[in-house]
Amino acid sequence: MPTYRAPITDYRFLLTELFDTSRLSAYAGYEEVTPDLLASVAEEAGKLCEDLLFPLNMSGDAEGCTWENGVVRTPKGFKEAYKAYAGGGWIGLAGDPAYGGQGLPALLRYVVDEMVCGSNLSLAMYPGLTQGAFETIHLHGSEELKTKYMPKLASGEWTATMCLTEAHAGTDLGMIRTRAEPMDDGSASVSGTKIFITAGEHDLTDNIIHLVLAKLPDAPAGSRGISMFLVPKFLVNPDGSLGTRNGVTCGSIEHKMGIKGSATCVINFDNAKGWLVGEAHKGLRAMFTMMNGARLGVGLQGLGLADASYHSAVAYARDRVQGRSLSGVKNPDGPADQIIHHADIRRGLLFMRAFTEGARALSVFCGLHIDDEFRAPDAPTREAAADLVALLTPVIKAFFTDLAFESTNIGLQTLGGHGYIREYGMEQFVRDARIGQIYEGTNHIQALDLVGRKLPEGGGRLLKRYAALVAEELAASGQVPQLSAFATTVGGAAKQLQDATMLIMQRGMANGDEAGGAASEYLRLFGYVALGHMWLRTCRVALEKKASGGSLDASFYDTKLATARFYFERMMPMTHSLFASISAGSGAILDFPKEQF
Ligand SMILES: Cc1cc2nc3c(=O)[nH]c(=O)nc-3n(C[C@H](O)[C@H](O)[C@H](O)COP(=O)(O)OP(=O)(O)OC[C@H]3O[C@@H](n4cnc5c(N)ncnc54)[C@H](O)[C@@H]3O)c2cc1C
Repeated sequence: MPTYRAPITDYRFLLTELFDTSRLSAYAGYEEVTPDLLASVAEEAGKLCEDLLFPLNMSGDAEGCTWENGVVRTPKGFKEAYKAYAGGGWIGLAGDPAYGGQGLPALLRYVVDEMVCGSNLSLAMYPGLTQGAFETIHLHGSEELKTKYMPKLASGEWTATMCLTEAHAGTDLGMIRTRAEPMDDGSASVSGTKIFITAGEHDLTDNIIHLVLAKLPDAPAGSRGISMFLVPKFLVNPDGSLGTRNGVTCGSIEHKMGIKGSATCVINFDNAKGWLVGEAHKGLRAMFTMMNGARLGVGLQGLGLADASYHSAVAYARDRVQGRSLSGVKNPDGPADQIIHHADIRRGLLFMRAFTEGARALSVFCGLHIDDEFRAPDAPTREAAADLVALLTPVIKAFFTDLAFESTNIGLQTLGGHGYIREYGMEQFVRDARIGQIYEGTNHIQALDLVGRKLPEGGGRLLKRYAALVAEELAASGQVPQLSAFATTVGGAAKQLQDATMLIMQRGMANGDEAGGAASEYLRLFGYVALGHMWLRTCRVALEKKASGGSLDASFYDTKLATARFYFERMMPMTHSLFASISAGSGAILDFPKEQF
């Protein structure tokens, strides 16, 4: 059986030592927030994940959701767990208190997300999109929509969806056919069919609020003609009680590879009553508020699953005895040595650990900048933070989910044949992790976003700002004798990233496909540099805390340094092959005759 251990010690380190979270208390609304408070909330969330959510992870997968005559039932125990989760105030954690939220930093939402998704991704999908819908209505909705819907979303009394995809329009949303006819009373009549809608129908709450992309009759063609509508499953009376059923039905649910406890629905809208969110024809822009948060959230899903797989793999590797260590017997009293003594098992476990801990640091770093983006009193800080978050969002989504899939696969491999058997739980982590590379924009679409939009923006402003942050860390770590070799490694990889950027920009201007052919490798190169940046900072702070007496055991800091060594010596060299591949250009891809595939 797999085990789940919430990474609360690591979060204590990240929230109270690695990053200066004390700056948050200077922001309006966060006066009471201290690093210790953040770590305590993380600890509480961790307990909930261990005790309430993880015990339903395997049973939810085995049972899955069912659909009968439009009614969807979630697996046993999900309803009670959801109520407890919502009742604990976790859904509205970072929401505006004016609309029922708790007003805690956005950073905490991502901390909690990692653990909730790692312990039970299927269950996490129901409240997951609700938080995004809350923020989207908050930023783009009318005051009437805000007061009517947001408090119920914050409390978890209702959940929400994002309805973009149609059978013929996935990545290319400009092709959607769902229509919205304006009505005399200011509402719109929405008709069309959406597919793959997460939590589109379920039995956890009495109402479901759909945020739907549709086209008005006068819409310009393509993605410039998309508007967003709020369409409730049940209409809501002026006093907030539920009224009649709206024209929204669930046509079926998908039978899929993973996240089987999450209902993925076909949703039919038949003259359903909806209300415009934001401006007409600007729906895609509004939806990006939801999608950007969701993209970070998907990155954290990958991180959480990789972490869950790591702990289960370690427990098995400590216990399982097979063969003798190549360097001599390690378990003389037993018939064989524990497999954790084999170099290749250790290599796999260290890959998982170095990825998850580096990625966790990067997610907290990004989360902190989200609070800077929305709360810092001065515009330059807000703008710099917004640039950083925009640049890192596709990297976190795609790099985390790609490496999470690799990590969960390594976790499965650690158990050998037992990893392939359901009752050990490791194959579920692999199946559940796979979707992260696909939804919220496939990972290649993230790479195109990075290369095609984020790099050119403001004449390369985003990357310049990020490079300055890396250079700052290189300068600080370069002063520490124990870290000079690691700093040289990160400096070399950062230079490769700069050179790769120039190559892609130059070649891409002559032929867009050159950039398209290199984009996924470029994003991965970026990911390795970003984690290298985090590991360098981690080493510097770990050394400082060890010397000055930090709040954690000396062994915690030593383990960080040992994990960082693996990252720099055995993972970071990937940047060389990625750089060589990018440098070779896309000719071999583009010149291959289509008929020969
Ligand atoms: C379990 C699950 C849950 C989901 N939840 C939701 C949800 O809640 N709401 C919602 O609206 N949608 C949801 N989706 C849909 C999901 O976001 C889409 O599947 C995804 O965006 C890809 O669209 P598609 O499947 O149509 O693939 P396509 O767009 O057909 O893409 C096929 C392949 O072509 C590539 N490709 C496409 N366009 C380009 C291009 N211009 N350049 C290079 N390569 C390209 C893609 O990367 C992909 O590999 C969900 C899907 C699943 C499976």
